[in-house]
Formats: sequence, structure tokens, C-alpha cells
Amino acid sequence: MTSSIVQVGAPVLRGRAAEVGPELMGTTMLDALVERMVEAMRAAPGVGLAAPQIGVPLRVIVLEDREEYIAKVSHEERTERGRQAFPVRTFVNPVLRMIGPERATFVEGCLSVNGFVALVERALEVEVSGLDTFGRAQSWRVRGWPARILQHEVDHLDGTLSIDRMHTRTFSTAENARAQYAGRSTAEIQKVLGPRHSERPRPLDPDER
Ligand code: ZN
Repeated sequence: MTSSIVQVGAPVLRGRAAEVGPELMGTTMLDALVERMVEAMRAAPGVGLAAPQIGVPLRVIVLEDREEYIAKVSHEERTERGRQAFPVRTFVNPVLRMIGPERATFVEGCLSVNGFVALVERALEVEVSGLDTFGRAQSWRVRGWPARILQHEVDHLDGTLSIDRMHTRTFSTAENARAQYAGRSTAEIQKVLGPRHSERPRPLDPDER
């Protein structure tokens, strides 16, 4: 059920979310927000959520990956994607730093673009710095799937969606992706759905071709 999650087209998903001020740190109000976010993320179910996705334009993200979700993907996929279980993490006012030139391209979806997925390129490793709900500094340096989740969620705080970064020709319903591309490599999916060079907007003027 994703009915409580704001869907694409809503202005709150396209604005820049505001920093959480010191007056909110350690309050029941901030705790309640995080609780609602975790509930919505688990109900979806998803592995990450940003506050704007429940209509709150504040710089707060939550993420969590669970063994029960990971158990559904093959060992090969798990290794290739760097998928790893981790308990709920909350970052307030997160700042992301990409580490190194390594990139990874995999199928990615968004709870606010419900029912669709696409290939999205992300940095393989990142470090996120920010605060916990009490306003204490924390950081996390991580590779693989958690790094992807962090990039996706921090993007939300700046009004950027994964569809802004996707390889447009690979945009697919989640249903088609499951039926056609589950267990297939990124290269195979790209081969079927179209080469990257044809993602450039097609020229409108025939003389430019
Ligand atoms: Zn999203």
C-alpha cells in the first residue's frame, strides 16, 4: 500500500526541502515525523523514504534494508548490487559526498513514481554526514545498495527524482520489468531497450539528423 505516499506531480516533491532547525532537535514532533516515515516506508514496502514523500518539506530521510527483502533476490543479484541488511537509519539535514569514480547502473524504482522502474546510474560509494534526531553529528561511509538508497533519498530533498537521472529508454512498468528483466544483467536490459546514445532528444528539425 503506497496510498499515504505522495505521488509524482505533487509540488512538494519538486521543491527544496528546508533544513531542520535546532529548535526541533530532540522533540516529540521530530520523533513523530520519523515514526510516520518509517511506518510508510515499511508499509510500502520500501528501503528508503524522504520527508517530502509524506508531504513534509523538511530535510529528513530514513532507510532500512531487511533480510526478508534481500531473501527475495538471487545470491548473484545480492552480491552484484552490494545489497546488505541494515537497521533503520535516520539522517537529519544530510549532506552527501560521492567517493571515487566508480559507478553502478541498476534498475531502480521510487515509491513516489509507483509502479514504474528504470535503469539509473549512481556512484558506487558515498559518505553521508548529518545529524540524528537529537542533533548529534553522525556520518556513514558505505558502498553498494545502501549508497544507492542514500543518493536517491538525498536527491528527494532537493526536488530531484530518479526519473530525472534514469536512462529514459529503460523506463518500464514494474510488472514488465519483473516479467522481462528479473535476473538479467544491466547490459542485457540496455541491449533490449536501446543503446544509451539514442537517449538524446530526437532532433525536431529533419535537417539536423
Ligand atoms: Zn523515491
